[in-house]
Amino acid sequence: MTYQGLIHRYGQYLDLPAHIKTISLLEGNTPLIPMPRLSRELGCELFIKFEGLNPTGSFKDRGMTAAISEAVGRGAQTVICASTGNTAASAAAYAARAGLRSIVLIPEGKVAVGKLAGAIAYGAEVIQIQGSFDDALSLVVEITQKTPIALVNSINPFRIEGQKTAAFEICDDLGSAPDWLCLPVGNAGNITSYWAGFKQYQKGLPQVLGVQAAGAAPLVLGHPVEKPETVATAIRIGKPARGEQALDAAQESKGRIIAVPDEQILSAQRILAEEGVWVEPASAAGLSGLLAESTVGKFEAGGKRIVVVCTGHGMKDPSIITESFKSPKVIPANYEALIGVIEE
Ligand SMILES: *Cc1c(COP(=O)(O)O)cnc(C)c1O
Repeated sequence: MTYQGLIHRYGQYLDLPAHIKTISLLEGNTPLIPMPRLSRELGCELFIKFEGLNPTGSFKDRGMTAAISEAVGRGAQTVICASTGNTAASAAAYAARAGLRSIVLIPEGKVAVGKLAGAIAYGAEVIQIQGSFDDALSLVVEITQKTPIALVNSINPFRIEGQKTAAFEICDDLGSAPDWLCLPVGNAGNITSYWAGFKQYQKGLPQVLGVQAAGAAPLVLGHPVEKPETVATAIRIGKPARGEQALDAAQESKGRIIAVPDEQILSAQRILAEEGVWVEPASAAGLSGLLAESTVGKFEAGGKRIVVVCTGHGMKDPSIITESFKSPKVIPANYEALIGVIEE
């Protein structure tokens, strides 16, 4: 039978109320891409779970199908979220599909162009906050406590339920859980979901390496970060809503949460692209963490099966690439000019 989306495929494993009305864009079912060159270099079996291939270009769609299906089922007419960009695009798309009004709050001037464009294209009412993501999230929580507007940030438990499906897919593809799972950590909903998913699915447990950007690393520093700064805008979060659960996941799994500087995140982004996988900066954090740990000898990759989660597509944040490279050469439209530049 053709694929019918995550709630259809994994609904029996998800704790969703009976009133849900399924809204799906056939999210999930993303590829687990083997990376032979990186595997050889690290002496392990490395796979990328490429979440950038979801309908709106990030893993957020997994949780959103669940959150919007629940909201519609209980009669909500308007949904709202705070977002560094991808949640906004996803909420807007699923709300559009369901015929709901969507409102998204984003930190002023800090959202990648591909994400903002997505939210606008899907018809969200986008509001910029003169403040951080964390400020936007506080406002969204307050307004959903005082009005019937439904909250679809990952503090919504149904988001976590939907996002567990990525762990199920990995186990189904590999036959069991990998030895290590490496992923970026921002508001910490995703790491919480993966850990819950692996525990529930009972196909073994990975050790979890959560990676924050050095300029936005509250879980490594042990305290909130007032003014988080990083090129990896999707994890530019100073006060993770599910920070405790992220630390528990790292500890229970005998893994850890580490911080990696922006240069290393961008370098990991290039390394992935060199093997044909273009991801947005935050999505390269998982690999940058793995490489950082291997370099300092803290990571025994030897013979292990490692899954690196790449959370969002590179096309979400094109300016990070175009700004750091020279623009393409311009030549006259003739053969001599062309062969001249090629043989230069
Ligand atoms: C949301 C997001 C993250 C961070 O996920 P959390 O659940 O907030 O930890 C990482 N990468 C991308 C591309 C995202 O959209």
